[in-house]
Amino acid sequence: MPSRRTFLRQCGLALAASSVLSSVPSWLSSADGFESLRGGIGTFTQRGGTIGWLATDDGLAVVDTQSPNSAPDCWNGLSDRSQGPLSLVINTHHHGDHVGGNGVFAQYTDRFVAHANVPDLMRASADEGAANDQTYPTETFEETWSESLGDETISLHYRGPAHTGGDAIVVFENANIVHVGDLVFNRAYPFIDVDGGADSRGWIESLETIHDTLDDDTILIHGHGNPEFGVTGGREDLLVMRDFLSALNEYVTQQRQAGASLDEMKQTETLKGFEAFDFDWALSLADCIEAVHQEQTAG
Ligand SMILES: [Zn+2]
Repeated sequence: MPSRRTFLRQCGLALAASSVLSSVPSWLSSADGFESLRGGIGTFTQRGGTIGWLATDDGLAVVDTQSPNSAPDCWNGLSDRSQGPLSLVINTHHHGDHVGGNGVFAQYTDRFVAHANVPDLMRASADEGAANDQTYPTETFEETWSESLGDETISLHYRGPAHTGGDAIVVFENANIVHVGDLVFNRAYPFIDVDGGADSRGWIESLETIHDTLDDDTILIHGHGNPEFGVTGGREDLLVMRDFLSALNEYVTQQRQAGASLDEMKQTETLKGFEAFDFDWALSLADCIEAVHQEQTAG
């Protein structure tokens, strides 16, 4: 059986990455996958992108839904944490390992909020025949969105194409906690979904802008993470991701100027200073190089 990495390369499809990520453990940090941070907010990790949650006496909010297999475990744990209803689900972006469990949560809420580009991106990236089976956002926003639940105010922000063409940054204002979705793969090679509207240059700018709006007390929830570094951290993690994307762009640019072919530039094992990114993980440096090469050579 081919390794995940080989499988991904053989598929050669951007689509494959998000479905492969659905099957990757998100590094269980506690026996039941739940971690509390502060202010009634925490994370749930099992398979796929990190779920964020807010539990108040007035109800629950959930950020991302992983997969149909793990979402029921998340719901079971969450329904013990509040007597209130599930007020809403937020999707940080359209990838299958972040929206795949929407159908499970649809039994408990009819409110799914995401950026305005997410419904079309979900439709475009669905496997053939599956487009009608997905649970789509019921409310979308263009630039910002905000709502209160209990004592907390949740605000959503869009800062242009980055990891995809429809990434929402989720801010829990009072607790000073931010779910950045897949804008941060914490010390792990990221999926750069060029066919899904990604823009690695825009991503770099977004990371800087977000960093400057936060402070040293902000807790970040990352979509994915290296087991050594975890899926939560501080705003400095945004700059590590930025620096990786910058080094990656620079590498591809230099290689192209030197006349290297894509196959030749993909031979490199690591980027200097980012050796920690190289662990047993669904995505490789070669995947990242290919994506940025695709960006740089497009039309
Ligand atoms: Zn993603």
